[in-house]
Amino acid sequence: MPIKNLFRLAAMPSACSARDMAKAVKTRLHIPEPIAAGTTVILSPAQSHHVRTVLRLRPGDPVAVFNGRDGEWRAVVEDGGKHATTVVVDRSLRSQTTEPDVTLLFAPVKRLRIDYLVEKATELGVARLIPVLTARTDVARLNAERLVAHAVAAAEQSHRLSVPRVLPPHRLKDIVDMWNPQIPLFVCAEFGPTRPILAALADSTTGAAGLLTGPEGGFAETELDALRALPFVVAVRLGPRILRAETAALAALACWQACCGDWRTPAAGTDGDGAAPSPQARRTDPQRESHD
Ligand code: SAH
Repeated sequence: MPIKNLFRLAAMPSACSARDMAKAVKTRLHIPEPIAAGTTVILSPAQSHHVRTVLRLRPGDPVAVFNGRDGEWRAVVEDGGKHATTVVVDRSLRSQTTEPDVTLLFAPVKRLRIDYLVEKATELGVARLIPVLTARTDVARLNAERLVAHAVAAAEQSHRLSVPRVLPPHRLKDIVDMWNPQIPLFVCAEFGPTRPILAALADSTTGAAGLLTGPEGGFAETELDALRALPFVVAVRLGPRILRAETAALAALACWQACCGDWRTPAAGTDGDGAAPSPQARRTDPQRESHD
């Protein structure tokens, strides 16, 4: 097909989102404090710098604040003096929702790639991230604070109402020993017996899931053998190509969201296909934290 046939000359319709009201307030800030109407919040020095110097917001300008528990609120910038910026919470924009219960377990990769992984997994709606130390993991130290900062920034930018939990690194053996056997753990395996990921996900009957990917050097054969022997493990394949570790983690997460997660839900106020939620969705318990 000639490449020009790929493009339409007609103007694309303008995008419309159910989150228009929340989006009207462009700047979103994650704050740790409880939020309620009338609360005054002192921004951190980094947020204060961002709001005043980068975005050049002035007293009276609106921002949105969220803390992962109390939903999203409109707040107004106040003149907090030379060194601090305060905002006063005004009214509720959205009530709290939870992300689907999907955990990404990944063998840590080098600095820029792990930052990318955390940022993109947050955008894709991951509930928690667990770095897993495997036989061939060659990243000795992780800067947890930096990873959390990336997760916070991505949550603010992607209009999430929560920040994913970033757990400390765990050894592969410890994590599988602690794993709740009721929850499937989809292990991305680039060799050996596997099921295509979508077929495996389609058979998944629980609302929660874990997705595990190996390091750049891959899993050791003994590790994959031991994982395959566990009743809650399903070894899955992400196509015929060998993906980089972070690509594999994000591809698996996208597949899970599309097949079992909240990508199936039509956006409110748009013409979705009206499909009823699947049994997995109905079973998802918003109060869950079953395997934290
Ligand atoms: N070094 C290995 C590749 C490791 S890729 C080699 O050259 O053979 C890093 C991780 O990404 C793997 O451990 C696996 O978890 C995941 N991965 C990469 N490609 C994959 C695929 N096609 N299917 C399933 N998992 C894959």
